Amino acid sequence: MNLSTTIPGQMQPFSLNLAYILEHAGKFHGETEICSNMAAGDVHRYTYAEALRRSKKLANALKSYGINAGDRIATLAWNDFRHFESWYAIAGQGAVCHTVNPRLYPDQIKYIVNHAQDRLVFVDPQFVPMLEEMQHELPSVEAFIVLTDRDNFKPTILRGAVDYETFIEDKPEIFEWLDIDEQAASSLCYTSGTTGDPKGVLFSHRSNILMAYAACSADAFKLSALSTVLMVVPMFHANSWGLVYAAPMVGAKLILPGPKLDGASIYQLIDNEKVSFSAAVPTVWNMLLAHLISNGLSLPYLEEVVIGGSAVSRTLLQQFKQQYDVDVLHAWGMTEINPLGSLNRPTAKFLKIGEEEQLAIKLKQGRPLFGIEMCVQDESGNKLPHDGVSAGRLMVRGPWVVRRYYKSEEDILDEDGWFDTGDIATIDVDGFMQITDRAKDIIKSGGEWISSVDLENAAMNHSEIELAAVIGIPDPKWEERPLLLVKTKENSNLSKEQIQAYLTGQVAKWWVPEDIRFVPEIPLTATGKINKLPLRNFYGKSHNLDSDPLNLLKA
Ligand code: AMP
Repeated sequence: MNLSTTIPGQMQPFSLNLAYILEHAGKFHGETEICSNMAAGDVHRYTYAEALRRSKKLANALKSYGINAGDRIATLAWNDFRHFESWYAIAGQGAVCHTVNPRLYPDQIKYIVNHAQDRLVFVDPQFVPMLEEMQHELPSVEAFIVLTDRDNFKPTILRGAVDYETFIEDKPEIFEWLDIDEQAASSLCYTSGTTGDPKGVLFSHRSNILMAYAACSADAFKLSALSTVLMVVPMFHANSWGLVYAAPMVGAKLILPGPKLDGASIYQLIDNEKVSFSAAVPTVWNMLLAHLISNGLSLPYLEEVVIGGSAVSRTLLQQFKQQYDVDVLHAWGMTEINPLGSLNRPTAKFLKIGEEEQLAIKLKQGRPLFGIEMCVQDESGNKLPHDGVSAGRLMVRGPWVVRRYYKSEEDILDEDGWFDTGDIATIDVDGFMQITDRAKDIIKSGGEWISSVDLENAAMNHSEIELAAVIGIPDPKWEERPLLLVKTKENSNLSKEQIQAYLTGQVAKWWVPEDIRFVPEIPLTATGKINKLPLRNFYGKSHNLDSDPLNLLKA
């Protein structure tokens, strides 16, 4: 495009501050409910109008505390009303809301809070003991706001600790959201890399709002003021896949599940609140289905569920449709892309084909939303055809795709602006993308990452271990679990239990592999790196865990 031939548009230069979403919901869907399952077991109900009022009180509280535009404020919390309103208050007055995943190992939490230089931490009461232990290693944090009220606030040694209700008490309900540059940072979310430290993705007001528009649209979440949305996917997982903005944008009733994500709790919420739409990783839905089956229950209100984070299985999709008449929408995304990239809704062609062919298409990760450009490339960077067969590196670009990681000096894009997702995929002639493999050496278990490299290094620290390799193997509950292959040093009598005990304490408890195999050799590449391909082919894909590994090595 030749810019010199353009003339400026004459529409209002109205910048997109995320808080306008809540402003809109509060003004025009003021009576619509937000219902939260609280950690203590009670259910909290209020409306968008109240959320807006309280969010403004918090914005005033932050301002009078001395928070400046651009300051980072961390949240370590499950999905509930206080966490929800704090997001809008923090971003709306110009600060950056940094969501910390409480499932991370304490060292990772320390790393990211220090890297972000968070000034305040908003924390659920259940995570207070963990922060008490690490606060002396978090020098940037001036005070901790505990997400509770005065009656439930327990004495704590956290510095500057105050309960949320006291923090916002007496603050005015009137606040002018900052007239912000829409490219300004609104929120920060760290993603675990394959190697090295977690990396921060710094979202902007613009990227969040554009993605929220796209998420609401009929070929995506199809949300409206008639929807009742259960936001299972945690807010610390890349903006709960945009739902935290998309639901209030259209004034949908919003259900926040708190910390309890087991089948019984999720069922209770769906049934009590007549939930029509929800989104979560496969593990959550597998737990729900198990609960439904063992208790002979049905899902009369639920219409659609978005499943992403890991691939949807045929069984999951069929069970939902055939037994509960619920449509599964397979979605793909990642933290680096805000995170929604593609979603599986049919095209006109789809209606003319047989059931089996339809199913094969529904299992794909879907078509890119407008705003995400997608292509597949071979290892030399050549574009591959969209023929549904040619598999290559999945590359994306667009207004809600990361350019560089937080505090990094370098862009992470190729010369044409494409971001390499680390996924291997095909794209068919109708634009349906399907993930066929993962180039990044990392394991996704129940929606959370396990770094194979970190686990290998932890095992290799043991004086009796010569070489260790970790690969992901399929698991019916968690989608993937790590399998640790160990070559011990001569004369070692190390047992599986000893290795597990050794790893516990070095890595998060849920990282510790249930399965550890002792092997005489671990295959290496010509350059001396662990050759995971034959290991994955053998243990991962064939599920052939009981075979003799010697045969594998001979193969
Ligand atoms: P995260 O940044 O934690 O959201 O993880 C993003 C990664 O999860 C992607 O790059 C994929 O490897 C994986 N992923 C997300 N959605 C899917 C899906 N529907 N099918 C397979 N893998 C997925």
